[in-house]
Amino acid sequence: MNQLDDLYMEIILDHYKSPRNKANLDHLGDDVLHENPSCGDSVKLDLQLDGENRITQAQFDGHGCAISTASASLMTERLIGMNIAEAQDFLQLFLSVMRGEEEVEKLEAWGDLEVLEGVRKFPMRIKCATLAWHALESRLEALTS
Ligand code: ZN
Repeated sequence: MNQLDDLYMEIILDHYKSPRNKANLDHLGDDVLHENPSCGDSVKLDLQLDGENRITQAQFDGHGCAISTASASLMTERLIGMNIAEAQDFLQLFLSVMRGEEEVEKLEAWGDLEVLEGVRKFPMRIKCATLAWHALESRLEALTS
C-alpha cells in the first residue's frame, strides 16, 4: 500500500472517507453479499434501471478496507447512465486489466478508476479491488437471466 503513488493514494483515501453512492441496503438479503475473507471486506450492490435497461442508480453497502470501498465508490459513479451491455463490457475490461490481460491505458477513459491499477502489484489487494465488481457481475447476471 505505501508503495502506491501518492496521487493514487489520495484519490483512494478520498473515496474511502467520502464514498459516493453508499447507502443502507439492509433490505437486500445476505445472498447478495459478497465477501473477501482474506481482508474482511464485504459489499452489496443495488442497481436501478429505467424502462430501457439504463442504470439510473447504482448504490453499494458494506464495509472494508480503503481499496475495496474506493473501488465500489468509483465503480458506482461510472455505472450510472450505462445500459446493461455497456456495464458488462466495463466489468470485463476492468477485470481483464486487474488480471494483467489488458493494458491499463484502457481504463484512462474512466477517469479516476485507473488509480486501482496500482494494486496489481499487490496480489492480496486485487481481491479487495475486484470485490464490488464481482457483486456487479452477479447483479448483471440476475438481471439478464
Ligand atoms: Zn480489503
